[in-house]
Amino acid sequence: MSEVTSKEVLAQLSKVKGPDLKSDIVSLGMVENVLVNDGKVIFSINVPAERAQELEPLREAAEKAVSQLNIEKVTAVLTAERKPGSQAPAPKPAAPQQHAGGGKAGVPGIKNIIAVASGKGGVGKSTTSVNLALALASTGLKVGLLDADIYGPSMPRMLGITDKPTAQGKILSPLEGYGIKVMSMGFLVEEETPMIWRGPMVISALTQMLREVAWGELDLLIVDMPPGTGDAQLTMSQQVPLAGAVIVSTPQDIALIDARKGLNMFRKVEVPILGLIENMSTFICPKCGEQSDIFGHGGARSEAERLGVPFLGEIPLHMDIRTNSDGGTPVTVSNPEGPHALIYKQIANEVLARLDAETGSRPQIVFE
Ligand code: ADP
Repeated sequence: MSEVTSKEVLAQLSKVKGPDLKSDIVSLGMVENVLVNDGKVIFSINVPAERAQELEPLREAAEKAVSQLNIEKVTAVLTAERKPGSQAPAPKPAAPQQHAGGGKAGVPGIKNIIAVASGKGGVGKSTTSVNLALALASTGLKVGLLDADIYGPSMPRMLGITDKPTAQGKILSPLEGYGIKVMSMGFLVEEETPMIWRGPMVISALTQMLREVAWGELDLLIVDMPPGTGDAQLTMSQQVPLAGAVIVSTPQDIALIDARKGLNMFRKVEVPILGLIENMSTFICPKCGEQSDIFGHGGARSEAERLGVPFLGEIPLHMDIRTNSDGGTPVTVSNPEGPHALIYKQIANEVLARLDAETGSRPQIVFE
């Protein structure tokens, strides 16, 4: 069975009428980032942010049209319309190539390493990392997750993994959770064990978790960074060939100021910033559905614009996200078709698009 091409996908999509009910969504230029990989198709439909909800039937119609092809799975995500001008690529310093091989020793088998960072703790960096990794894996990519938050490893809990890694010589095998490979200091020590790390130990612990683990072939390794801008971050960003960094922030000013520090750190070591994510953006009351902006709203978006970095999306503050991530069943797997999973998938798609723009490499995906 030969793989369908993105041309065939577009041909199907050109049968879907746009919101004006006259032209089709392809000629309206709404379809973006068509990816076909191993029988799985993912694409985005660009819509005005404020109409995303009412255009859900359009998304479904597009998926249905593509599902007529001989494929295994199709995922359409709605992405917010880009304001003219805001998407002009930020002027890049003459940075050396950052992906595998660019001066820093790569990790054999791993195509792209992406750091998820935040200026301070408690903003939902780990929750975002795990859901982002799972959303990326749901597109058919081979994904690994390195919990580099050695001060407070949370991946064993978030993925409900209680096993311990086995070792062959000094090489550890990663554990698996919901189809992604995972390594965390939390597998090696009890969660309650207080860990005090001194600088050189931090460096060797991180280096080991990255390089002395049998990751195998990975399209992407997501690194959940420790919060802040200290030793560990600098080590990671200096010694690891990062393809890019994603910064997670709450809308509060203070967290934003910290996020700015994080941005500057990556810029200093010439790691491309793939963009900013606003977490705990709005609170939707589970009882009455009313929306409240507990931590303010839109702070990260305007901050991203001001700093000239892409804005990747907003994740609401919601009970389901908390109980599932703390209960070992991240919302992207416990309710993969739900509204929150969809948001993480949209963000995953944006991350892939930004990675493509920065490195020109969209791993293992047919992109025509
Ligand atoms: P960090 O890694 O930045 O320290 P965590 O991901 O551990 O933060 O999140 C801190 C707490 O907030 C956790 O209990 C987590 O479940 C919760 N949380 C994170 N993001 C959200 C969200 N969008 N909605 C609800 N709870 C969230």
